[in-house]
Amino acid sequence: MAKWVYSFGGGRAEGSAAMRELLGGKGANLAEMANLGLPVPPGFTVTTEVCTHFYANDRTYPAELKGEVEVALGAIADHTGKVFGDRSEPLLVSVRSGARASMPGMMDTVLNLGLNDDTVDAIAGLADERFAWDTYRRFIQMYGSVVLGIEHHEFESILELEREKRGETEDTGLDAEAWKEIVAQYKALVEETIDKPFPQAPSDQLWGAIGAVFGSWMNPRAESYRKLHDIPASWGTAVNVQAMVFGNMGETSATGVAFTRNPATGDKGLYGEFLVNAQGEDVVAGIRTPQEITESARQMSGTKLPSLETVMPDAFAELGQTAERLEAHYRDMQDLEFTVERGTFWILQTRAGKRTANAALKVAVDMAGEGLITREEAVGRVEPEALNQLLHPTLDPAAERTLIAHGLPASPGAATGEIVFSAEAAEKLKADGRELILVRNETSPEDINGMVAALGVLTARGGMTSHAAVVARGMGKPCVCGAGALKIDYKAGTMTVGGKSWKAGDVITIDGAAGQIFEGRVPTLRPELTGDFGTLMGWADTVRRLKVRANAETPNDARAAREFGAEGIGLCRTEHMFFEGERIIGVREMILAHDAAGRRAALEKLLPMQRKDFIELFKIMHGLPVTIRLLDPPLHEFLPKSDAEIADVAKSMKVDPALLRDRVIALTESNPMLGHRGCRLLITYPEIAEMQTRAILEAAAEAAKATGEPVTPEIMVPLVGMRSELDHVRATIERTAADLAANGTAVEYTVGTMIELPRAALRAQEIAEGADFFSFGTNDLTQTTFGISRDDAHGFIGPYLGLGLIEKDPFVTLDPDGVGVLVRVAANEGRKARPGLKLGICGEHGGDPASIRFCDAIGLDYVSCSPFRVPIARLAAAQAALHSAQNQTA
Ligand code: ADP
Ligand code: MG
Ligand code: MG
Repeated sequence: MAKWVYSFGGGRAEGSAAMRELLGGKGANLAEMANLGLPVPPGFTVTTEVCTHFYANDRTYPAELKGEVEVALGAIADHTGKVFGDRSEPLLVSVRSGARASMPGMMDTVLNLGLNDDTVDAIAGLADERFAWDTYRRFIQMYGSVVLGIEHHEFESILELEREKRGETEDTGLDAEAWKEIVAQYKALVEETIDKPFPQAPSDQLWGAIGAVFGSWMNPRAESYRKLHDIPASWGTAVNVQAMVFGNMGETSATGVAFTRNPATGDKGLYGEFLVNAQGEDVVAGIRTPQEITESARQMSGTKLPSLETVMPDAFAELGQTAERLEAHYRDMQDLEFTVERGTFWILQTRAGKRTANAALKVAVDMAGEGLITREEAVGRVEPEALNQLLHPTLDPAAERTLIAHGLPASPGAATGEIVFSAEAAEKLKADGRELILVRNETSPEDINGMVAALGVLTARGGMTSHAAVVARGMGKPCVCGAGALKIDYKAGTMTVGGKSWKAGDVITIDGAAGQIFEGRVPTLRPELTGDFGTLMGWADTVRRLKVRANAETPNDARAAREFGAEGIGLCRTEHMFFEGERIIGVREMILAHDAAGRRAALEKLLPMQRKDFIELFKIMHGLPVTIRLLDPPLHEFLPKSDAEIADVAKSMKVDPALLRDRVIALTESNPMLGHRGCRLLITYPEIAEMQTRAILEAAAEAAKATGEPVTPEIMVPLVGMRSELDHVRATIERTAADLAANGTAVEYTVGTMIELPRAALRAQEIAEGADFFSFGTNDLTQTTFGISRDDAHGFIGPYLGLGLIEKDPFVTLDPDGVGVLVRVAANEGRKARPGLKLGICGEHGGDPASIRFCDAIGLDYVSCSPFRVPIARLAAAQAALHSAQNQTA
C-alpha cells in the first residue's frame, strides 16, 4: 500500500534528511532532528506525492490518506497526551508548507489549529484567559486569510478599531475581555464574507488547511519565486502537521530565529533575533523590535533591550548546543527556528542558511579550515552567480556624501536609484529602463517582483531576518532595513526624516554593507579580490579543467581581465579599434576609395594605429594567448546615417555629400546580421586582411621583444560557412606573413575560425582541415539557429518564459537541444579531422554557469567571457569538473 504520511516525534521518525524529495526540506529536516533526539514537537508530514496526486486528480486526495492522517494524529496523541477537540487536553497543531527547495514565506502556514468555542476554555486553563483568546483570534485571522481567502487587512482594521476604542497603542495592552470581543467580531466577519460560520470541527479545520497549503503551491508569488530560482512546478510541496508549542505563554516564553554563523559576514557564532511572549511570525513581521540573541551582539547594536543570553540563560545554552550539533551534523551553516514555552526549549526548523556572497566565501573557507568539509566541497558551496555581489562596486570612502539616515546592514553592496514606493510602480518604471530603490515600511511576499525590478531595497521597519533582508540577500541586492527614522507616506509619495522630505523619483544611494542611506549619487570603487575570495578562487583553479579567457579589446578591459584571473583573450573584436577618434576618418576614406590602390593608401594610415593597439594588448597579456578576429561588421556601420551627419562628414572629408549618400545607400545591408561582411568582406577587400595581419604580427614581434614572452597570435576569420572561404582568407594571411618573414619579421601564429553559422557547424570536419582552432560564436549561432535576433527576441522571451514555452533564455544559457547540438557535433567532427584542434567559446554563454557546465561536458578547451564574469566562470568551471568527476564515480 502506498505510504502518504510520515510521522516524527519522541526521538524517532519514519523519515530522514535523505528523503527531501518526498518530505520536502522542512519535513525531512524535522524527521532528521527527531532522529537526532533533539526537542522537536511531534507531528507528521503529508508527502509531496500527495501534492502531485492532488493536481493530477482535480484537487482530490488518494483514498488511503484520511486513514493514514488519523493514525498519525493518534501518534501525536500518544506523545503529548492531547487529542483533537478534547475538552480538557485539546491538541493544537500547526499546518506548515514545505517544498523540496526552501521558499521562505512564499507559501502558507496556519498556527493554533484545533481551537474552537469549546477548546478555547481548556486552553485558558493551561495558562490564562488572555493567552487563550489571543491565540484563538490569531488562529481565526490566519485561517481566515490563508484558507478562507478573507483579506488580511479586514481583520487588521477590526483589531485597530478595538485598540483605539480602548486607548491602547500595542496589542500587548489588550486584555482577555478585548480579545473575546475581537474573536466575536472576527467570527462575524467570516460568516458575513463566506456565508458560513467559522468551522468549529478540528478535523474540518485540518483538511481545510491541508488543502490551502497544497493550493498555495500554485499561488502567484510562489510561482514567481519558483521562476526566479529555477524550481520546477512538478516538485510539489509537502504539508507538515505538528503539535503547537507556545512562545506566547508569558514572560518565560519566547520565539526566535538564529543562524549558526552571521549570514552577512560569515563570522562564526550564534546570530539572530527573538521576542519574549510572542508567536511564530511575530519576529519577522517587523511589528515589534526584536532582541539580540547574544550579549555581544546586543552591545554592538547599542540597544537596551536585553539579549536571550541574559533573560533566558538556560534556553540560550540549549540553543547554542543545538546549533553546534546541527551545524556539525549537516556540515553547513544552519538557519534555525526555535520557541521557548515556559522555559522549555523547542526546535521547529533547520535548513541551510541563506547568506551573502561574502559570508558564503568566509563560511566555505573557514569550514574547510576547521576540517568540517574538504576544499572541493568548499568550492561547491559558493554559487558562482553570487560572486557578482563581490565584483560589484562599493562606495568610494573619499567621496563626499550627505547622510539621510541609518538602518541595518541587511545585504551588502551599494546602489543608486530613484525612490519608488510600490512594487507595481517599480515594475513599471523598470520597464522604461529606470534605476530604482524600492522604499517600503516593510516588504511582504507580494513585493517580490518589485524587489526584482529595483537595484536596492530600503525599509523603515524590520530586523536582519525580516522579509526584505532575507529576500534581498538571496537576490544579491543591496538592502538597508529597519531605518526607523524614516517616515514613509505612501499616499503623499514622500519619505521624511526629521523635517526634510524626499519624493518618489528623487535619487538616493544606499550602502547595504554599512546600513546607510545617502542623498543623490555617491561615487563607487572597484572591489578587492584578495582574502577569502583569493583563497577559494585558488582552490577552484586547482580543480577545473576548462581554461577561462576574457573577451577584451581595450587596454582597460585586458587589465581587468588579468586581475580577475583570465588566462588569455578569447575574442578581440578589431572593429572597435576602427571607431576611435581620428581613425574613423581613415576607415571612411578606405570605404569611399574607388579602387584597391585607394583602399591600400587609406589602410596604410590605419596600420600604425592598429599595430600600437595590439602591442599594448600583447604587452598586458604577457605571452598569454590572444585571439584576434579580423574585421567583421558590414561597412555601412562606419558611415554616417542621417542627412545632417552625412553633410557634416562630407564637409570634413571634402567630398560631395551626394556621393557619400550614394555609398551609404549602396552599402546598406537589408539584413545587417548577414550580407557583405565577415569573411566575405575580407575576400572582396583582401587589403583589409593584409593590413590587419601585418599589424598583428609586427605587434607580436615587438611585444615579445619588450616582455621577453613570445606571443603566438591566434588570427580568427569571422562568419565562415564554407571551407573555401576560410582557405581563401587563410591564403591572404599566409602570403602576408611570408612577406614579413622575408623582411626579417618571422612570427609564429595560428589561423582559425569562428563557428557562428549552422552550416559551419555541420561542415566542421572539412573546415577543421583548414583551421588550427574553432571558437564558437554562440551569440550569432543562437540567432541563426533560432532564426531571430536577440533584439527581436526581447519581446517574446519574457512571455515565453512565463508560458513555459521555453525554460531558459537561449541568449543567456546555451540551448542544449539546438545550438548546443551544433556546438557538440562541430566539436566532435572537428576533432576527428584534426585531433589537436583547439576549441573555445566566445559568446556571452561563456560566462553563464549552466552553459559552462555544458562546455566542460563536451570537452571544449576554454570559455571566454566578459572580464567581470571571469571569476564566475572560473568557479563554474571548477564546479563543472567536480560535477563530472562525481558522475563518473556514481
Ligand atoms: P515558513 O516556512 O514561512 O518559515 P513555517 O511553517 O516555518 O513557515 O512557520 C511559520 C512560523 O510559525 C515560524 O516562525 C515557525 O517557527 C512557527 N511555527 C510553526 N509550527 C509551529 C509549532 N508547531 N509551534 C510553534 N510555532 C510554530
Ligand atoms: Mg519557517
Ligand atoms: Mg558574428
